[in-house]
This record gives sequence, structure tokens and C-alpha cells, in this order.
Amino acid sequence: MLRLLPQTLINQIAAGEVVERPASAIKELVENSIDAGANRIDIRIEQGGKSYFSVTDNGKGMTKDELALAVERHATSKLPDDNLVNITFLGFRGEALPSIASVAKMKITSRPHETPSGWMIEVEGGHKKEPLPVPATYGTTVEVRDLFYTTPARLKFLKSEQSEQMAVREVVDKLAMCYPNISFSLENENKKLISYPATENLFERVSMVIGHEFQDNALPVQTEHDGIKLSGFVGLPTYTRATSTDQYLYVNGRSVKDKVLLGAIRGAYQGLMGHGSDGHPVLALFLSVPYDQVDVNVSPAKTEVRFADAGRIRGLLVASIRNVLAEHGHKTATTLNIGALGSSEQKPTYTQPIRHNYTTSYPSYFPVTPTTKQESFNLSDSYSVKVEKPIEPVMDQQLPPLGLAKAQIHKTYIVSQAEDAILIVDQHAAHERLTYEKMMQSIGEKPQTQLLLVPEIIDLKPEEVSLLTSRAEELKEMGWIIEPFGTDCVAVRELPALLDKADIKKTIQDLVDTLKTFDDTVLLKDKMKDICARMACHGSIRAGRMLTIEEMNALLRQMEQCGTSGQCIHGRPTYITLKLEDIEKMFGRK
Ligand code: ADP
Ligand code: MG
Repeated sequence: MLRLLPQTLINQIAAGEVVERPASAIKELVENSIDAGANRIDIRIEQGGKSYFSVTDNGKGMTKDELALAVERHATSKLPDDNLVNITFLGFRGEALPSIASVAKMKITSRPHETPSGWMIEVEGGHKKEPLPVPATYGTTVEVRDLFYTTPARLKFLKSEQSEQMAVREVVDKLAMCYPNISFSLENENKKLISYPATENLFERVSMVIGHEFQDNALPVQTEHDGIKLSGFVGLPTYTRATSTDQYLYVNGRSVKDKVLLGAIRGAYQGLMGHGSDGHPVLALFLSVPYDQVDVNVSPAKTEVRFADAGRIRGLLVASIRNVLAEHGHKTATTLNIGALGSSEQKPTYTQPIRHNYTTSYPSYFPVTPTTKQESFNLSDSYSVKVEKPIEPVMDQQLPPLGLAKAQIHKTYIVSQAEDAILIVDQHAAHERLTYEKMMQSIGEKPQTQLLLVPEIIDLKPEEVSLLTSRAEELKEMGWIIEPFGTDCVAVRELPALLDKADIKKTIQDLVDTLKTFDDTVLLKDKMKDICARMACHGSIRAGRMLTIEEMNALLRQMEQCGTSGQCIHGRPTYITLKLEDIEKMFGRK
């Protein structure tokens, strides 16, 4: 039977597009509050938003008649001149409120500034009741209970309370970032998750969201070209995260996930990242594009955009980011003479020298052991006290395949003398490979651990603390003893003996980021490869760490034991070989 669908059903279908989970509904409500001119928005959720959420603002409010109309489909106050070009509000489709109301129990209380009292309207499963007068403060509160109670099939797709809460937080963070002059708070069952006071300073708000460390690791971007403005902050290439969640992109005040922009960012950082392709830069960028050059009405959730001239946007982005990073002394510095090395066994990747550059410019990020005169003196001391004293190899005693360590240069590379070659070993890449292999081998065994006499206290977000705590048993099996410490810190008491203590903070942050990408039902033991790789990356000897000759030789010997030691876990070489024969050729001796 061909028929027109009833309005409630149409709304439920629309809800499928706009309202996917509590977080997406909350996004719509907060956007409405922003559109209403609020400078204070408070969000409350229960069970991650699954049983209840509310958004309260101090915006312009709605009259009795407006309330009744607002919950009708395609009712909007935001397209006054019927034109889809000058879209200056976040909303414009007029479908959020009716869509949410069609799949939940909604109650809106509102009072415009100039009126003596407030009004309240309830809508349940799409059926609206008569508005009632109620006492109310200025502004609007939208409360939603039992999301998807009318559509049990959708209810089944909701994740655990923790995942839903995390998604809500992300949504609020994304909006808060772009509106620093609005104060935001988020509470889950009386636990404060977010509390951002209003500020005039965008960088301050950006750092509230990303974390205060960002302040020391970011550079401002500010350019304008042909009416397109780009501003914001880009993280240094050394300051990376395991996932791209801390890449905040906005077009005309709207948070977007856009392939053009993401591709441009990848391009801008290409070759500058110390960790090859596994780290993601952290940044907050705000594009302002003339309204007639961008279409924001591409998807119902409005997270995609279409640019009239995508190439120009990409070019502007890549050039601006590159300029800023380069100005700051991070230009790709290829010091190796590529031609001369042409015949060496393994070609070096040219990104490696850069890692060293960063190390020296940002000692605060890479934990660098202090290089006092005293220490370098000790280093040469250890030369003279070496028992094996292998510097002049005893006749007819074969040198080991990877040779004997002669020196550490730039606190990053080990120079070793082998039978017929000179080897240059990247100490971090090599150690990382070994750590990874050992971790993978010892899976299932009881791990050796090192106890921290002073537990390491690490700042995290509250739901990250609960995420780690929920995995505590599994992590213990891997050698980690991590306990909650207040609501937004954890204490690390024990860690796997294989890992270097130097960078526990980064290792944990990375572990958290990695855990976030797993479903609640995923067992960590099925993800060991990923986890070990991430841990080995941060838990291994860093570039910039001074090593003794004994430590260097120990590393070389371990590498010989390990079949795959020639490549780091990201596939780059861990060492390069300069054949004597080739060196002689380069000097014209042969
Ligand atoms: P849209 O935002 O696309 O207009 P919505 O369904 O989200 O559609 O909202 C419908 C209308 O209800 C809005 O256009 C606005 O006039 C009104 N409205 C919604 N939320 C608020 C609020 N928090 N404060 C004031 N007015 C609101
Ligand atoms: Mg809206």
C-alpha cells in the first residue's frame, strides 16, 4: 500500500540520521544553546546519557508558542530569509528537537528574558502535551530520558556507560574548543567531568581541552589568503598521540571531519614526525571560509563539508603549517650525503636525523640525561676501564657480526666497528625492536616486573582513569600495577621490567589512547601485538639518552640474538652499514 508516512514515523526515521547515541543528541542540544546566545552551558548525564541527559543554558529562551512549535518538524528560527547560503547558525534543519522527542521522553523548560515566568512542554515518543506554566530561571533546559525507548533495535547498539560517556565528553570538548567565551560544564551522576570557565583567550581554552602540556608544545598559526582565514595552534612534530582524537578542525565555527583537511595535515607533517607514520600530530585549527565557498549541508549530522575549491584550502593548510614548523627551526635537515651512501647495505631513511634535532631543541619533552662535563668524562672513563677493552681487537679473534661499540654520537647513535665495516645504530629504534620482541615472546608467562619505590602519579581525564581501572586485572597480567589516585590521576606502582622507566607518563597516555580504540568487549590479550608495539615505542631507550660502552655493547649483542633486529617495528632500519670497501672508494683509495 502506497501511503504518506505518519509524522512520528518520519521523525523516527530522521532520528536515525541525527541521533545515533546520547552524544549526538547532546551535540544538537548544545548547538541550540550556542545558537540561542548562551554564555553558560551545563550538561548533566546519567549512565553515560543512556538513561538521562539534560542541557541547561542561559540563552534567549522560548515563549509558550515557540516551545510548542520548536518540537515540530522543520520548525526553525534560523533561516529568516529562506536562503541556504548564509548559514550563520549551527542549526538550520529544524529537526533535532522533534527527532530526539520521537525516540525518547523529552521535557523542555524555558523562559525568555523579558517574561515574568517560564513554560514547560513534554513530548513522549513523539506525542506532545500542552505547555504548562512553571517557575523557571532565564534560559532553557532540555531534559531527555530513556533515549531509544521507542526503538529497541537502536537501543541495542548503545555501548557501555563508559564508552557513551567518553563520546559525550568528546562532543562537548569539540564544541567548547570553538567557543571559549562560553563556560561549559559536564557532570555524570554528580561527578564533574568538565569544567571550563569562560575565557577571552582561545589558546587558554584549547589547552583546557587538550591538556596543559599542549601550551609548551604548540605554535600559533595565523594566515589569510583570498578571503580564507586560518588560525589556531599546531603541535610540534615531537608531541604526538596514538590516535587522531586530538586533531580539532573547524570550518566556520563547526567541528568537521573532512578528508581534504585531514589529508592536508598528514601532508604538512610528512617527514617531520619522529615516529614515522604511527603518531598523530595534535592541533586545533579554525578555518573561516566565505559562506558561498563551502557547503555545510552535506550530512544530517553536519560534520562533513564541501569546499568549492578544495585544492586551495589544502594548499593554504599545508603551506601555513609547514611555514610555522620550519620557522621554528624544524626544517628537514638532511645532513647525510645520499650519493656517498648509495652503495651501503641498507639505505638510511632521511627522517632519522630530524629526530635528533628535536631532541636538542626540546629537552623538556624527551627526557634527556643531563650532559655535564663530569658525565662525558665518565664516559671516556668507561673506555679506559673496560675489561674486554675490545677497541683493538685481539688478533684472530673474530669480531661479533655487529661489531664492537666505539662511541655514542649525538646521544642517539652507536658507532660500532665490525670486521669489514662501520655500523651506525639508532639506539632507540634498536632497543624498541628488542623490547617488542621480548614482550611478544613472554606473552602468557608471568612477567618480570620492576617495583617503583615512589609510584608515578599521572594526570588523566576522569573517564580515562575509569577506563584504566576497568582493565586493571588484565594490565596486572602484563606486569602493570595501576591504581586510581583521586578522580583524575592514576598511580603506577609496578611496570614490566622490560620497559624503560624514563617515559612512564607517555607510555600510559598512549596505553589509554590505544584502549579507547578498543571495544569494551575486546580482551587485551587479543590485542597484544598493538599494545606491545605502542609500549615498546615509549618504554625503550630514547634518543638523547647517554649510554655507556657496556650498555652499547649489550645492546649490540642482544640485537645479534634477535632475528628481526635489522628493522624497527615501524619498518625502518635500526642500523646502517658502511662497508670499508665503499668508504675506501669514496676516499678514492680504490
Ligand atoms: P534547528 O536548530 O535546526 O533550528 P532544532 O529542532 O534543533 O532545529 O530547534 C528548533 C528551534 O527551537 C530552533 O530553531 C530555536 O528557535 C528553538 N530552540 C531550540 N533550542 C533552543 C534553546 N536552547 N534556546 C532557545 N531556543 C531554542
Ligand atoms: Mg538545532
